[in-house]
Amino acid sequence: MVKEINTPGDKVSAIILAGGSGKRMQSQIPKQYLILGDHPILYYSLKAFDNSSVDEIILVVNENDREYLREKLLNIYTFKKPIRLAAGGEERYLSVNNGLQVCKESDYVLIHDGARPFISVETIEEIIKNTKEYKACAIGVPVKDTIKIVDANGTIKETPDRSKVWAIQTPQAFQVPLIIHAYELLLADLIQETGGGPLAVTDDTMVLECTINYPVKIIMGSYSNIKITTPEDIRVGEALLKGIK
Ligand code: C5P
Repeated sequence: MVKEINTPGDKVSAIILAGGSGKRMQSQIPKQYLILGDHPILYYSLKAFDNSSVDEIILVVNENDREYLREKLLNIYTFKKPIRLAAGGEERYLSVNNGLQVCKESDYVLIHDGARPFISVETIEEIIKNTKEYKACAIGVPVKDTIKIVDANGTIKETPDRSKVWAIQTPQAFQVPLIIHAYELLLADLIQETGGGPLAVTDDTMVLECTINYPVKIIMGSYSNIKITTPEDIRVGEALLKGIK
């Protein structure tokens, strides 16, 4: 049993992202509704947050996928926490921004990829606790491989010191005014620098780095907290599930 750690007055929201097109999965059904074990991929992270101490869940879903969401999830499973919906955006950071607009009144927000089904309630509680102390926090794991920076011709340019390189996962969590401010700056830059075109921003800690340069506390995640992206990941996910059962 995980202890509830939110002090009265702190409102904690969780944004779960399911607004991607999942092109790399090469599937007709959007990847978050593909079955893993006995349930759709998205069910697992929804259930973990539902069983955690967060106060509400904001699910970011494309308009076109709302039918899947109802048919494959909301009409079948029951959840204890309020679930609100936000619209998906063209890019991940635009989906996050849509989710943030829905929880502006909250104190803290956790942002999680719906494509990571193996997040545990214990890790969610750990990140909430650390976010209250550090204001910005993400989970990650030290990389096992040697990482190379490679140029456009496929030639190695440099090798970062492996002992300092971490693979960053989600959830990533923030004090709400801090992340909203960073996103406002990012989107203002976006219009100024690219006229609204896509930016190479692939996670939320990067938004703090490239705007207010606020330090982000990293806490240990799990090598099992994989992101389901390609068909091989489903097979890895099935194997991980068998290990958990
Ligand atoms: O594309 P990527 O693997 O970074 O996606 C990570 C998560 O962000 C996935 O859960 C995906 O559904 C979500 N996403 C989104 N809106 C987008 C792109 C990705 O909500 N435009």
